[in-house]
Amino acid sequence: MAIQIEQILNILTEEVTSYQVPVVDLIAVQTRDPFKVLVATILSARTKDETTAKAAARLFSQADDVAGLASLTEEEIRKLIYPVGFFKNKAGYLAKLPAAMAKHNNQVPETMEELLALPGVGRKTANLVLAVAFAKDAICVDTHVHRIMNIWGYVDTKTPEKTEMALREKLPRRYWQKVNSILVAFGQGTCKPVGPQCDRCVVAQWCPQLGVTPRRLPGSKAGTNLKLISWNVNGIRALEKKGLVDIVQGLGADIFAIQETKAQPEQLSTELTSIPGYQVFFHSAQKKGYSGVAVYSRQQPLSVLEGIGQEEFDNEGRVLTLEFATFFLVNCYFPNAQHGLKRLDYKLAFNEALHTFTNKLRSPKMVLICGDLNVAHKEIDLANPKSNIKNPGFSAPERVWMDEILADGYIDTFRHFNSEPEQYTWWSYRFNARARNIGWRIDYFLVDKENIGRVQKAEILAEIIGSDHCPVGVEITAK
Ligand code: SF4
Repeated sequence: MAIQIEQILNILTEEVTSYQVPVVDLIAVQTRDPFKVLVATILSARTKDETTAKAAARLFSQADDVAGLASLTEEEIRKLIYPVGFFKNKAGYLAKLPAAMAKHNNQVPETMEELLALPGVGRKTANLVLAVAFAKDAICVDTHVHRIMNIWGYVDTKTPEKTEMALREKLPRRYWQKVNSILVAFGQGTCKPVGPQCDRCVVAQWCPQLGVTPRRLPGSKAGTNLKLISWNVNGIRALEKKGLVDIVQGLGADIFAIQETKAQPEQLSTELTSIPGYQVFFHSAQKKGYSGVAVYSRQQPLSVLEGIGQEEFDNEGRVLTLEFATFFLVNCYFPNAQHGLKRLDYKLAFNEALHTFTNKLRSPKMVLICGDLNVAHKEIDLANPKSNIKNPGFSAPERVWMDEILADGYIDTFRHFNSEPEQYTWWSYRFNARARNIGWRIDYFLVDKENIGRVQKAEILAEIIGSDHCPVGVEITAK
């Protein structure tokens, strides 16, 4: 049944009056200044509101108009706005902003086209400035609007840009300006990306909860299934600052496998080494700040094995195996074949050694191989297959190895359930690739075919941000 969007948005308009106001709206209300709205919006991308608010306050204390901004060097701007996400890029954009605004008499322009020509301004920023600073009919689709509209089934889209186009077709105009404020506040306060609070949600009775795993309340019993998640975090210490501990707790997985920790256990905070309810195991590389895998587990494993018994691979901290009563979990960070396929031979040797290792584990116990395999298997698994045929991660030898391990009786669990295109787990940090969904599916859960019947669900958690990869997950029966 289609949701009644007007009824839901009206209820939420009331509901979010008691929530924290999104930072850009707050700055608009407090200052009524399009320049500050524009700058705060640029700062806010991929950054928590709290961090944006502090960075904006520091910057505006030194530069509260375009002339003030022009008087600062890029280095000074960088220091003032640190630690917002991508602070170096944003400092570069802000340093160029005064020259770009000179063409508009030092005023913020009021059309989409002119805004998009400013440095660091994409559609989301332009729409927000038009709606919030100039009260124009524009729909700003950020991650919350995109995610929640899809959870409701009001749109069925893969990217924020496609969501904006779909909303332009069907959302009544009177909601265009305010839908972002409502759903950002609601997305931060209740319908959170990780562990949405469906148990206290005022619109739960109308929500189909598409693709949602509600939070697990403390003391509530886990189901009989086990939930396993795998994520290449691209640096566990960096991700801690972006909320890794909250994400692990919010997703409530029984086992949370991590790749590319880039750290030794002794370098980690106690918050990371003692997440309540979990034990954690590490296998780190000898070289500091490189590679490394870890597993957080609610259950006590029967045994834990670091590496696969071959020094050339084990030195790089690439595999950690946990044995439980009815299954083995093999958490892997496969080597990257690297530019010019310089490390292809090493990678293929690792692949073979890992395959031999997992075959030795095969028994009545299930074998789950999870992690960043650093290869997109088929053309459907990346956005631009033709231009990547000779590149690392999509070269013929790497894909042939995937063919071989699947032919040997392992199953790609995600493809077992889902044959849709545009399902990715990694996006380059460049070219706005994640927002445009120009990605690759290189993170997997493989399972031995004898036990595929125990896999109830396989999913990609694309809405979880913080790394250039997103997590992937499976649910398996406990026995
Ligand atoms: S019921 Fe859950 S998923 Fe649906 S809107 Fe409410 S919090 Fe979000």
